[in-house]
Amino acid sequence: MADDTTTVAPGSDAHREDVARARAALLDPAVAHIVEMVLEHDPDGAGVGHYQATSPEGRVRFHRVADGTGWQFVVDAVDGRDPLAHQDVDRFTPLTEEQAHASPDRAANAYPRAFEQLAQLFDAPAAPDLVAIHTSAHNWEDQGGHLGEHGSISVVQSRAPFVIAGAGVRAGGMVDAACRLVDLAPTVLALLGAEPCGGVGSNGDRRDDALLRRQDGDVLAEVLAAGEAAPAHVVGVLLDGANANVLYDLAARGEAPNLARLMAAGTTYRFGATSSLPTVTLANHTSILTGAHPGHHGILHNAWWDRAAGEQVITNSPAHWVTAMQRLDPGVETLFDAVHRSFPGSTAISVNEPCDTGADHSIFAAMRAGEPIDRPPPVEELPHTTQRFVRPVKEYRWSSLIDHTAVEQFVGIWSGSFRGRDWPLPRFSWVNFSLTDAAFHEGGPYSEIAAASVADTDARLGALLDAVERAGVLDRTAFFVTADHGMEQSDRSCTGNWAEALDATGVPYRDEGYSFIYVDP
Ligand SMILES: [Zn+2]
Repeated sequence: MADDTTTVAPGSDAHREDVARARAALLDPAVAHIVEMVLEHDPDGAGVGHYQATSPEGRVRFHRVADGTGWQFVVDAVDGRDPLAHQDVDRFTPLTEEQAHASPDRAANAYPRAFEQLAQLFDAPAAPDLVAIHTSAHNWEDQGGHLGEHGSISVVQSRAPFVIAGAGVRAGGMVDAACRLVDLAPTVLALLGAEPCGGVGSNGDRRDDALLRRQDGDVLAEVLAAGEAAPAHVVGVLLDGANANVLYDLAARGEAPNLARLMAAGTTYRFGATSSLPTVTLANHTSILTGAHPGHHGILHNAWWDRAAGEQVITNSPAHWVTAMQRLDPGVETLFDAVHRSFPGSTAISVNEPCDTGADHSIFAAMRAGEPIDRPPPVEELPHTTQRFVRPVKEYRWSSLIDHTAVEQFVGIWSGSFRGRDWPLPRFSWVNFSLTDAAFHEGGPYSEIAAASVADTDARLGALLDAVERAGVLDRTAFFVTADHGMEQSDRSCTGNWAEALDATGVPYRDEGYSFIYVDP
């Protein structure tokens, strides 16, 4: 990072020149193998609501216009090859197609709903000047050299799985469809039979059908079984970082029998659920649980720069999970709060999930209150655990222990008594499993360790299903399974960091979360 000795105000000509120099550095041929494209708002002073995506081969400029409670997008200019020409959601499915097109280049890649992705992000006051999108092949060697990567708006990195089944859900099987992660919260509320609350839509205007106070997503009406009674309970399960094609393939091959059971009984979106930019963990956990994009709910990234306060904000780290939701925008509502508002007296629990605002149970709330946390058993005694990966792989061991505690919390609460307190059966339960993310990063999505993490997590899912069955309400409960983002196989030989190119410009900048570039911070 260059020395920041002078202040260059945002919006000034000097700032625009610095942004242009930083953009040019990111588009230098020397880093073309790691920089897929550069995204920005108000390019060269084009105005609020105007956007640009630039790759080494061309650029597109577009703007948005209000349309109902959302937006429509109008392309203004294309120079060279349009980097966002392909926004199809169905590219590289099923798994054989994905594997046949490993590390696709820009011309072969697709970026689902890219216009919406840019527009929502830059609504945030703390959005950066430039977002550097890394290539599908890029291996962040100096960030651990993971074989599995995410964060891009490329179709594989932004594709999360979506399976929904049980009471009130249509048994549609595998459907040729895609949704968005922001659609899940309103869909859960519609499934439960909640009434509209007079919230606002993605453009901030009142939305008569809104089930949440801020609702960017839409109800997936096609998964609701017409004429059936609403379920008494909904259980949502997140498999962090699970590649959708891989997950569906393992289920089809008998490696995830509990997930397969849900898929057989319900509806699965073949093209998955599109994660919001940036396709990283806490930004999208929060999108799932609020129905709002990161640019609107306030958990903008794992880390970002608060220009107004002059401080770095970190939300996604073990030290920050406990207090991360202090950054949640007061205009959004979590599913936990919406369930309470819609069904007074009901219970909503958040298991191992940092996005826990309004939940009746959360381990992070217990930590905020200074309560002691139960110690997990020794790893040798953990059920549902592939021991050959637990022993040698630290992240696999840590996540297996954490996910075991998730099962204990869920099973305890669903048994009616947990940690000395009586519990009614929750109307809404949310369970965050982390092992898949650790394993898919470690070995890449097609690895043995990734498959083992799915098998272990599927067995834990089975323990959740058993707990619901023991409570006697299996036929009155709906379940959904999703993830917060996809995971793409990186190329071990495609390494590097754009910091050198940026440093060489002499322009002061901060790179937060390895993609959010703040110029003249
Ligand atoms: Zn994640």
